[in-house]
Amino acid sequence: MHSGQGHEIAAVLKRALIELVLMLKKRRFAQTERPRTRSSRGEGRYIPAEVRRAVFKRDGGRCTFVDDSGERCHETGLLEFDHTVPFARGGRATVEGMRLLCDRHNQFEAERAFGKGFMQEKRQARAKSA
Ligand SMILES: [Zn+2]
Repeated sequence: MHSGQGHEIAAVLKRALIELVLMLKKRRFAQTERPRTRSSRGEGRYIPAEVRRAVFKRDGGRCTFVDDSGERCHETGLLEFDHTVPFARGGRATVEGMRLLCDRHNQFEAERAFGKGFMQEKRQARAKSA
């Protein structure tokens, strides 16, 4: 084999690899450029990852419930993201609109907002459908 031929083959292979990389890049970008159906403006029940991170950091990874004597709940496990304004009443999944609550206080706040009877009915309906 001539050294010139080997050089040509190497050049063809190199060109082919460049084409392949370009094609793969194009395909990947085409996927990420596809518009998302989920809104990033905090509408809907979906809570964006950056909102979760910011709320968790702001609230110090701890339940934000403050009782009547002004003492804050010490729960750091079993935390849930809660809409400060209930989702059903137009609350948004933004950093300002979310807070950390433990499961107990999340339930407590929901009962306070919607009434104990309403939440009990909801839980019973959920238990029946499950
Ligand atoms: Zn709590």
